[in-house]
Amino acid sequence: MRYFPAFLDLDGQRVLVVGGGETAARKLRLLRRAGARVAVVAPRVVPEIESLAAEGGLDWLPRGFVAGDVAGCRLVHAATGIAAVDERVAEAAQAAGVPVNVVDRPELCSFVMPAIVDRDPVVVAISSGGAAPVLARRLRARLEALLPARLGSLAGFAGAFRGAVEAKIPDFAGRRRFWERFFDGPIADTVLRGEVCSARERMLALINGGAASRAAVSAGAAPGVVQIVGAGPGDPDLLSLRALRLLQDADVVVYDKLVGPEIVDFARRDAQRVYVGKSKGCHTKSQDEINAILLHHARAGKRVVRLKGGDPFVFGRGGEELAYLKAHGVEVEVVPGITAAAGCAAAAGIPLTFRGEAQAVTFLTGHATNGEPDLDWAGLVGGRQTLAIYMGVSTAGTMAARLIEHGLDPATPVAVIENGTLPNQKVATGSLAGLETLLRAQGIEGPALIIVGEVVRLAEEDFLPAPLTAPLRALAG
Ligand code: SAH
Repeated sequence: MRYFPAFLDLDGQRVLVVGGGETAARKLRLLRRAGARVAVVAPRVVPEIESLAAEGGLDWLPRGFVAGDVAGCRLVHAATGIAAVDERVAEAAQAAGVPVNVVDRPELCSFVMPAIVDRDPVVVAISSGGAAPVLARRLRARLEALLPARLGSLAGFAGAFRGAVEAKIPDFAGRRRFWERFFDGPIADTVLRGEVCSARERMLALINGGAASRAAVSAGAAPGVVQIVGAGPGDPDLLSLRALRLLQDADVVVYDKLVGPEIVDFARRDAQRVYVGKSKGCHTKSQDEINAILLHHARAGKRVVRLKGGDPFVFGRGGEELAYLKAHGVEVEVVPGITAAAGCAAAAGIPLTFRGEAQAVTFLTGHATNGEPDLDWAGLVGGRQTLAIYMGVSTAGTMAARLIEHGLDPATPVAVIENGTLPNQKVATGSLAGLETLLRAQGIEGPALIIVGEVVRLAEEDFLPAPLTAPLRALAG
């Protein structure tokens, strides 16, 4: 290891920054966050430093650097960008035994600045030892995405209860088990969701409750939880950060057909995977069976992620699972996902609403129990609206006929997006009257989303809608 990692306590300590430009300002922002008393030596400074000095947030010495400036400082930063000056600063600091960092001059530095992920009080520092700063920054971006935004709040929460837990669980090993289970458990989840008051109440009840309940937590008998998570329309990049995090923490992942293997693979290798989707020739799990599976794992104390295509609350039966689990006293969390209508529309370049063309969008299902979907046809043909039809491939012909009967123009444009957002995505366009023929001619089997409405024409390259043609004509004229 070329550099020794350590975190310095700069609270109330004097730190010298030589230089008054943007780079210096960036350094001192960080130093001030750590509570340092910053002194800036520079004949001229950027407005940010000037106003901080005016407010008393730092000392600005408006002059050139002299070697004596380093005296009494805990750290020195040289950021003048003038080689000769930076070298003098480094020399003076080294002579006085004060650690010094010179921007972009590793050979003059006695310490280097890592890339950081700040979830105060949790701070992650990454260094490539100067070999590849860009790589360190990329790693940082990855960690930023991976670590929950409220991680700091969780650390603060645990910190506030440290004393109380110590008083109740005197032995060290028991305490460690308690905390290990705590960070995997539902109270920690509640803090990460931002519901700190409710988490505090539960924590107090747990700590002040009997020794048995605390022992149960230490022994790993924490109650399970089901997270009903939207996996988005298919492209793994369209998962939410929260969905990704929960998947990586899950003990059990229960998923259906619309969720691709790349997404399920985000789960830990040792997580149990339970497939409950339909597949040709295989028995399909009924909703009751799925509910029972979720309940079984939750009651065994597992963290269960119920992964659903798109959004769990849009034609996903997420509502039924939520109601069932709540009725059985299981803690449930719902994480939204990008629904197929939004994903497919974006992938096909079709805006679902557009000023002057479509002021409403209706999500509807083409699923039919008795051959024909039972829909409010009259309500679907009125006004400037876009229809986004889910599960409509097999009933498309009947639906188109009903819509036309109720007054929708047979020439209304339609688009069919099969496997939207996936590498095998297929987009076909035509008219409402020709919808069934279009599906057959293109060999569409689904999953496919059907979009009906004038907005479909907006995806054609040479088409300019009225709200855009007017200003363009004005420009041309
Ligand atoms: N909860 C899901 C919908 C489940 S219903 C969501 O919010 O998207 C299943 C239907 O969704 C399919 O029949 C199809 O109409 C649509 N669908 C889901 N993923 C799709 C995709 N990648 N491309 C096209 N349609 C999709």
